[in-house]
Amino acid sequence: LKQEWDQLLNEPSVTKDGKHVELAANIGTPKDLVGVKDNGGEGIGLYRTEFLYMDSAELPTEDDQYEAYRKVLEGMEGKPVVVRTMDIGGDKELPYLELPKEMNPFLGYRAIRVSLDQDSIFRTQLRALLRASVHGALRIMFPMIATLQEFREAKAILEEEKALLIKKGVEVSDSIQVGIMIEIPAAAVLADQFAKEVDFFSIGTNDLIQYTMAADRMNEQVSYLYQPYNPSILRLVKMVIDAAHSEGKWAGMCGEMAGDQIAVPLLIGLGLDEFSMSATSILKTRSLLKKLDSAEMKELSHKAVTECTTVDEVIELVNKYVKD
Ligand code: PEP
Ligand code: MG
Repeated sequence: LKQEWDQLLNEPSVTKDGKHVELAANIGTPKDLVGVKDNGGEGIGLYRTEFLYMDSAELPTEDDQYEAYRKVLEGMEGKPVVVRTMDIGGDKELPYLELPKEMNPFLGYRAIRVSLDQDSIFRTQLRALLRASVHGALRIMFPMIATLQEFREAKAILEEEKALLIKKGVEVSDSIQVGIMIEIPAAAVLADQFAKEVDFFSIGTNDLIQYTMAADRMNEQVSYLYQPYNPSILRLVKMVIDAAHSEGKWAGMCGEMAGDQIAVPLLIGLGLDEFSMSATSILKTRSLLKKLDSAEMKELSHKAVTECTTVDEVIELVNKYVKD
């Protein structure tokens, strides 16, 4: 097995019939790059920048952030790096930022909602990102987008900061992609409209499942409802991927589901372009891909989405199509 994995390290991520996808990694700090290299990651699909804020006694400065982003971009040597702007709130608190006590923190003041409300914090982060953009292939991603209005507002602030930097003579990349996480059902439902304005989608299934099933992702008592293979989730994922492709954009996934061995065959069938997961799942997934035929997986996912009524039926179907 060790030998097989060593070999897989330098192989491309392709299905049995030669369909390419990108296997990327989720990271929380520049230190995680070692693991990404050791596991053959082809990019960073999610850099959770909130750790920069959580590991600090006060708001990280623009320079602190610039250093962290530059390290990651340089470390990846031109491979794509999706940096998510801070996702604070929900279960993640900041001691130095007064966040309100809420009845339903996961439905409350969180992520882009905080960024748009306290835009000086947001602008600082965007300037750091824009300055770092010349050191690699930066993609900026906004978390917890529910409406097009929010996306337009965030994008406008980004454009404003970019123009200000350029006016000051600071060099900024002109090929930064700007996308959103799809983790709120409202955004999945309107994916066709979002697809006209964003450069990419990354589906955050950890939250998308929680919000679609109305089941707190941390609550053991309702964990039976936390169902990645529920046909409703598969249909939403399909809508998002189809919407992206209709506009010539790419769709990735950065929730846990992207590295799940039952989900991967379905996601290949649905046409997902990029799979971002914990680095330790990459080789296992690359190995699985080699056993999958993309036309067969397309048939599988079509049946799962149109015929299956329960999770158990979906699992049974996947096991019928994917045999060892
Ligand atoms: C997600 O919601 O799927 C996701 C990747 O974001 P996080 O787990 O950080 O909420
Ligand atoms: Mg999330």
